[in-house]
Amino acid sequence: MHFKTLAIHAGHNPKDHLGAVMPPIYQSSTFAFRDVAQPGPFDYSRSGNPTRKALEDCLAALEGGTRGFAFATGMAAETTALMLFSAGDRLIVHSDLYGGTYRLFESVFRNKGISAEYVDLRDLEALRVALATPAAAVWIETPTNPLMNLTDLAAVSKLARAHGALTICDNTFLSPYFQRPLDFGIDIVLHSMTKYLNGHSDVVAGALVVKGEDLAARVGELQNALGTCAGPQDCYLVMRGIKTLPVRMEEHHRNALAIARWLAEHPAVAEVLHPGLESHPQYALAQRQMTGCGGTFSFRLKGGNEALYRLLRGVKVFLLAESLGGVESLIDHPATMTHASLSADVRRQMGIGDDLIRLSVGLEHVDDLIADLAEALS
Ligand SMILES: *Cc1c(COP(=O)(O)O)cnc(C)c1O
Repeated sequence: MHFKTLAIHAGHNPKDHLGAVMPPIYQSSTFAFRDVAQPGPFDYSRSGNPTRKALEDCLAALEGGTRGFAFATGMAAETTALMLFSAGDRLIVHSDLYGGTYRLFESVFRNKGISAEYVDLRDLEALRVALATPAAAVWIETPTNPLMNLTDLAAVSKLARAHGALTICDNTFLSPYFQRPLDFGIDIVLHSMTKYLNGHSDVVAGALVVKGEDLAARVGELQNALGTCAGPQDCYLVMRGIKTLPVRMEEHHRNALAIARWLAEHPAVAEVLHPGLESHPQYALAQRQMTGCGGTFSFRLKGGNEALYRLLRGVKVFLLAESLGGVESLIDHPATMTHASLSADVRRQMGIGDDLIRLSVGLEHVDDLIADLAEALS
């Protein structure tokens, strides 16, 4: 079936729930056994919950995976994925990625003997060199937050597989509607469902979708053993959000691309970083592995701090806030907000200057959004 149909129906069959068209919220921590030593399909909600399972089955269908898993946050999903590894394991990690992921590697897992070596995965030769030393996994984020750099999923997964390394791809920015990493040979897809999958800025949640029964069993054991799972109320809300994912993503894409084109012509703007613009250095790759660009992109502003403060304080429709992927438009200054947990040195190395602005373009009328930016930039 088509993606739009799966987004509405996968994971839930009304016949199993008294005809309820929407999946019920099973707000129950435990489930009565049928008989001595005979549990029903669910026994305890950390191990499994019917509402969570409906979402997890839907996620697996949308990403084309063997099994999906829902977690309390995106970081809980990342933590669970990293618990697949052991002390002494070395991971090759894209050098440009979400600040919280970098912090998890550096301030939590490095102390436990799981090390990250940062490599610019746009450079396949650099990856080949890095893979010459044994690596347990390659960690990808594409497009990257906030620089909108892309990684060639087919090329990287092929190289990693040839060297026996697992591949993990953070697909938060595009959602499965615009990019399906498993189709390109990736082993594990990761989401902050807080962003586009839920889409309404009222839940924090995360997901992993894996390919292969062996990985599915290992991640399932970890989700239960670690207790990182999402609660039923949040799973319900994410499922409700997913039903409109296709229409939301199309509109996010249209609005953001129109604003990116408008900003590219604006005299106060030095550079627009958006993979749907022909000026993006990886435009051809974007056309190959993505079917759209979503609503998030960034740009560099001229005029130093004065211009920056004027813009951040001047917007009225765009809200100055972290996060992305919701129906409302947000403006973010990565250096002082989402990526403030990185040292100034690391930010500089990555290319996250004080002049960089990230927009999460929502579903308001595009003319109002452009008028808001025009006013604040004037
Ligand atoms: C927000 C985000 C995360 C972390 O997810 P939370 O739900 O905030 O824990 C991970 N990766 C990317 C790309 C993100 O944008």
